[in-house]
Amino acid sequence: TALILNEKGLTLDEEGFKAELQKQKDRSRAASEVSTDDWTVITEDSQEEFVGYDSLTEHVNITRYRKVVSKKDGELFQLVFDKTPFYPEGGGQVGDKGYLEDEHGDVVYVLDTKKENNVIIHFAKNLPKHLKETFKAVVDEKQRFRTACNHTATHLLHQALREILGNHVEQKGSAVHSKYLRFDFSHFAKMTPEQLRDVENFVNARIDGKLPLEEQRNVPMEEALAGGAMALFGEKYGDSVRTIRFGQSMELCGGTHVQNTSDIWHFKIRSESAIAAGIRRIEAITNDAVKDFYFDNNRALFEIKDLLNNTKNPVKAVSDLQQENVNLKKQIDGLLKEKSKGLKGSLINELEDLNGVLFLSKKVDLDANGIKDLAFEMGKEHKNLFVLFAANNNGKALLSCYISKELATEKQLDAGKIVRELGKYIQGGGGGQPFFATAGGKNPDGIDQALEAVRDYIT
Ligand SMILES: [Zn+2]
Repeated sequence: TALILNEKGLTLDEEGFKAELQKQKDRSRAASEVSTDDWTVITEDSQEEFVGYDSLTEHVNITRYRKVVSKKDGELFQLVFDKTPFYPEGGGQVGDKGYLEDEHGDVVYVLDTKKENNVIIHFAKNLPKHLKETFKAVVDEKQRFRTACNHTATHLLHQALREILGNHVEQKGSAVHSKYLRFDFSHFAKMTPEQLRDVENFVNARIDGKLPLEEQRNVPMEEALAGGAMALFGEKYGDSVRTIRFGQSMELCGGTHVQNTSDIWHFKIRSESAIAAGIRRIEAITNDAVKDFYFDNNRALFEIKDLLNNTKNPVKAVSDLQQENVNLKKQIDGLLKEKSKGLKGSLINELEDLNGVLFLSKKVDLDANGIKDLAFEMGKEHKNLFVLFAANNNGKALLSCYISKELATEKQLDAGKIVRELGKYIQGGGGGQPFFATAGGKNPDGIDQALEAVRDYIT
């Protein structure tokens, strides 16, 4: 994170960050406090196999179940089937969702699927009523399809990065969701806009090329590697593996994929960033998410054009507005300087002589900078000045106290202490130096009281 912040010219409050991290850790430890019941076995079944590469609907029997209670998720039931079409979270890909339906039409939703000790576990909020019956298990097809689009795109992205950036690119992690994909890889520089465009074009060319899925299951590991399949660094593989090929991209992979790259429709990179030294992260979207992305961008552009009176060139129109804004700010700064000069002339006449101190407390219509300029300008002309200015800026009260340095020393006056104490009238606080200090508060109604109370400091 420090790295990303440095890139943006920001720094990190590391101590604060560590403290927050510890709090977060404590919270998640509390949230992950889990109590797990023992398994209730309905039928012994040694198979419990995954059949979801070929079908999304299957008739299944529940072999065992147990209740799990955690602070984070509340009460959940874990169900194991004799066979299942639900893909369990793994290889970066999320687990399937879907439902179970019994013969009476009772439905239980499967919220997530995970693998624990080689057993595929389905998570449900309730337990089915008729546990010993046969259920129709149905995977959420839309989510599975979107996830498959993103998984296949991840393989093509991996291939594109090695092709365009070089063979030093190694996959360091990936997350394949239904809404987006994330790919972490080794590379030492920020990618240029041209490289990002080249990578997008590379992947989209393979989508346009309508490459079919070529899948092989139960291939001996050596045979797969000899055939050119890419094994991921740090990943554990069994003796026999599954290979996924789309054109020249071939990986050892257990995930679910589209039948043809044209199913993906389009690939779009949303962001590229650093996550650690020498490790970059790309987030990208495919299919429906790309359509939504372009629709949203297009709508924003229409709205911008509309605000700019349907200009044909919104970029120029915005840039003109920015320039106009800069010019107006300059003009206003000049006018404010003039105003404070004029004000100075009339205020000098309002100074009261209190035992040799030239005193003034007054509400003025200036912002904080204007008041400061005014006070310092007046201070140049008088050596024994004590002024308190107040302003109401958009409902916020402001007090500024100026005391000539000689006067502050001689009478042991401290503008910082004074505004802090006067802060109670405007429900706020502040501080500064003995010769100049400011306070802000949320109660402008207290300004008059503060302007009156300040007299006590010199009389
Ligand atoms: Zn994969």
